[in-house]
Amino acid sequence: MRADAGVEVAPGHISAAIAKKLEAEPASSAAIATPSIGILRRAKQFSDSIERVTSGEANPLTIVIEESLSPVEAVIAGRRTIMFGTNSYLGLNFHPNCINAAAAALKKYGTGSTASRVAAGNHKLHVELEQTIAELYNCSEAVVFSTGFMANLGVIAALAREGDAVFIDAHSHASVFDAARLSGAAVGIFKHNNSLDLERLFKESRIPGSRTVVVLESVYSVWGDIGDLRSIVGVAKKHGAIVVVDEAHGMGIYGKLGRGVVEHLGLENEVDVIVGTFSKSVGVIGGFSVTNRPELRSLRFMARAYLYTASLPLSIVASASEAMRLISTDEGLRERLWQNAEKFYAGLKALDFDVCAAPGPVGSIRMRGLRVCHEFWKGLLERGIYVNMLVPPATPNGEVVLRFSVSAAHTPEHIETALNAFREVSQATKTA
Ligand code: PMP
Repeated sequence: MRADAGVEVAPGHISAAIAKKLEAEPASSAAIATPSIGILRRAKQFSDSIERVTSGEANPLTIVIEESLSPVEAVIAGRRTIMFGTNSYLGLNFHPNCINAAAAALKKYGTGSTASRVAAGNHKLHVELEQTIAELYNCSEAVVFSTGFMANLGVIAALAREGDAVFIDAHSHASVFDAARLSGAAVGIFKHNNSLDLERLFKESRIPGSRTVVVLESVYSVWGDIGDLRSIVGVAKKHGAIVVVDEAHGMGIYGKLGRGVVEHLGLENEVDVIVGTFSKSVGVIGGFSVTNRPELRSLRFMARAYLYTASLPLSIVASASEAMRLISTDEGLRERLWQNAEKFYAGLKALDFDVCAAPGPVGSIRMRGLRVCHEFWKGLLERGIYVNMLVPPATPNGEVVLRFSVSAAHTPEHIETALNAFREVSQATKTA
C-alpha cells in the first residue's frame, strides 16, 4: 500500500506538484520539499523564503503579543488588537472560576509536576479531572495527556503497530500524520471526507479490518468543515476497524452536553476512542482520550506519550476541571459562540470572500497566493485585527489561507470592527 494513496497533500510534506505550483510564487515554502541539499542549506532556504515574502515586515512567525487584555483582545505593536486567531472558543481562559481554581492550586501545589505520573505519583487532581471527563462522556476510562498533540501520538501509536494499518483523512492535523507514521503501521490516506475512497483503501489493503485503525477529525482544523462522520464511521465499522475521532475543535462547541460532533450526530456507540484538547474551548493546555471499551483500559499503559513525559501542572488541571464543568452546564456559552460564528460568516460572505466551509468556531478564507495573503494579513493587523496566515505544508491542497476563529467572548462591536477591516483591506488590495 502506498502511504500517499489518494492524498492531496499531507501536512509536513509537500508533493512535487504542489512544490511546483509554489515555485511560481516569488517566495515559497517549497524549500522544505527540496530533499537533496544539506540540512543547513535547506533550513537557510526556508528562512530566506520567509524573509523575501514578508520583506522584513511583520510576519506571523515573529509577531509579539505585548499584553493580553481578555480572551479576544491583546496589545500588539502598541495597538489594541481584536484576536480572531486564538481558538479561545468559549473565552474560558479568562473566566473567573477557571482563574481562581488555577490560582488556588498554584499556591497550594506549586508550579510544576516535575515528572510523569508514573514517576512522580498520581495526584488526586489528575484523577478527578479524568473522572470529570469520563462522567461528561458517560465512559468508563479517560486519560489526561500533556497536550492534544501528545494525546494523538499516544493513542494512535499505542493502538497500531507494524503489521497493522492506519487510515487517515488527507486533511488531518499534523499530529495525526505523525502518530500514524510513528506507529510503524502501513499508512493509508483517503481523500478528504470521502467514504468511497476509504472503502477503496479497505479493498486494496491486505491487512484485515480488525487490525486497522481509522482516524477522523470532527472539525477539520484548516477549513473548519465538519467530518462526514456518519458515512465514514459506517465504512470503518463495516470492516471491523477501530475508530478514533479527534474532537479538538468540536468539544465544547457541538452536542447538547458539549461533548462534540460525535454526540451531535448520535454516533457515540460507534466510535471507539475520542481524543480532545484543553487548548481550545477549555482555555488551558493538555489533551485527553476517552473510551468505553473495556479492552482499551490498557491504553494508558500502552501510550508512550503518557508514560514518558511530565504531567500537567496542577494549576492547569484545576482550571481544566472547572472549564469542563462550565462546558457541561452552561449552554449559554455555546449559544453565544454560535451567534457570533454565524454573524461573522454572514458578514464575510456578504463581502464576497471565498470562505472554505459553513459557519463554525474556526474557518478559513482562500487567498490568491502568498503575497496577497500576506498583504491582507498585514492590512488587517494594522487595523487592529489578528487572524492566522496559513501556508503549505500547514494547509491542504497547497492553499494559502487566512484562518479565523470566533469566540463566545467576541462582542457585536468586535465583529463589526473586524468586518469593516476586511472590507477596507479588500478594497485597498484590489486597487493596489
Ligand atoms: N488535533 C487537531 C485537529 C488540532 O487542530 C490540534 C491543534 N491545533 C491538535 C490536535 C493539537 O492540540 P494541542 O494544541 O492541544 O497540542
